Amino acid sequence: MFIGALLRYGRVVMPPVAPLSIAVIGAGLGGLTAAVALRRAGFDVQVFEQAPELTEVGGGINMGPNAARVLYRLELGDALDREAVRPASTHQRRWQDGRTLQRAPLNPRCEELYGAPHLTVHRADLLAIIASGFAPERVQLGHRLVGLEGKGDRIAARFENGARVTADILVGADGINSTVRAVLLGEEPARFAGCVAYRGLVPTERITDLDLELGSQSWVGPGGHFVHYFVSRGQLLNFVGWTEHDTWNREDWTDRATIARALAAFEGWHPQIRRIIAAADTCFIWALFDREPLPRWSLGRVTLLGDACHPMYPFMGQGAAQAIEDGATLAACLAAVDAGDPAQTLRRYEELRRPRVTHLQELSRANKTRFHLPDGPAQQARDAEWARAGDRSPEALRWLYEFDATVLPRG
Ligand SMILES: Cc1cc2nc3c(=O)[nH]c(=O)nc-3n(C[C@H](O)[C@H](O)[C@H](O)COP(=O)(O)OP(=O)(O)OC[C@H]3O[C@@H](n4cnc5c(N)ncnc54)[C@H](O)[C@@H]3O)c2cc1C
Repeated sequence: MFIGALLRYGRVVMPPVAPLSIAVIGAGLGGLTAAVALRRAGFDVQVFEQAPELTEVGGGINMGPNAARVLYRLELGDALDREAVRPASTHQRRWQDGRTLQRAPLNPRCEELYGAPHLTVHRADLLAIIASGFAPERVQLGHRLVGLEGKGDRIAARFENGARVTADILVGADGINSTVRAVLLGEEPARFAGCVAYRGLVPTERITDLDLELGSQSWVGPGGHFVHYFVSRGQLLNFVGWTEHDTWNREDWTDRATIARALAAFEGWHPQIRRIIAAADTCFIWALFDREPLPRWSLGRVTLLGDACHPMYPFMGQGAAQAIEDGATLAACLAAVDAGDPAQTLRRYEELRRPRVTHLQELSRANKTRFHLPDGPAQQARDAEWARAGDRSPEALRWLYEFDATVLPRG
């Protein structure tokens, strides 16, 4: 091109540069947040989801201000304010007698301290809210990724339905059994974490006699814990009851995920817990799987986010939150003026994210042990420690809640 063609009115006019094309594999909470953030940063984004429609399991998400902040920045706040609940407090209690072990205010405290609320929200509502920020014609449903290869500066993706797509960058947001991770780093089955969850939703009008505060409660006991909080504008109470098991046989468990089985799992626990379980129509069972932290997430122009690269026990309530943070940081890295070579930029994203999520993976694992201590001296020592210095308050979690994943550190 002649330099003269670039000169207009005495200044250099750069020829229009096509935005990088980015293929996001997986339209879960992580993939869709990344898609919204990347699109808003000006990239040409397409999402490929294996399912024939956008769905999430029935259940709730406990979302700290660190993740809520990202969604407000993506201008999803109006819908969040409409659908989500702002729990007044978090209350940790003893399994049998309901004694308070620690209790802390959540709202409006989180907003006062960190400029974003703590929310509890139905997973399907959250997915719909995030999806509302992204053009539906850019989401290709029924596209199950089966293969990947590098083609010079492009990545070629192959789907089960025969479709083939190329992009400048590919992001694997395809969950704990990620195909993208398997292609990059080799196949390795996820490991059963020795825990199953009984999950259910109870219409609030059925349990008015319990006179529950609009807050979040977590009951800890020998070999298990039970969490409940409100979702869907306060119309539903979400519960998740965790118990420990040595083995997992999917068919056996799926067949028996009944209210009676959940009640049996929490035999002897406080009447409030048993009353909540009994008020549900159905109960789902969910086995927890896990992986060791990965040594790397990116290879060339392909990277990972969310459960695809850092599944974590939900005992810090941060799995989805960290997937949401990943998307924000990935977009910020790629949009930075000094972004440079895409492969290098993906490495930078990974270097920024890995220490934080690895720390949360460790804390979440440690909580499994701490929450499930048998009655006895170790449990008493834990309770005394929580009574002395609670670890769930917004102040105690400053390092977690204050963090802004949309802003890159200087340097
Ligand atoms: C019981 C329970 C309670 C939890 N509570 C909380 C909580 O309170 N707070 C919190 O922050 N986190 C919580 N979590 C963790 C949270 O649910 C996950 O960390 C989060 O959903 C991960 O999101 P993701 O987008 O990375 O993956 P996923 O939600 O697994 O999404 C992956 C998507 O990729 C698609 N996909 C998979 N393979 C392919 C393929 N080959 N091609 C195309 N598409 C594909 C899938 O269909 C899916 O839509 C909880 C988890 C559990 C099990």
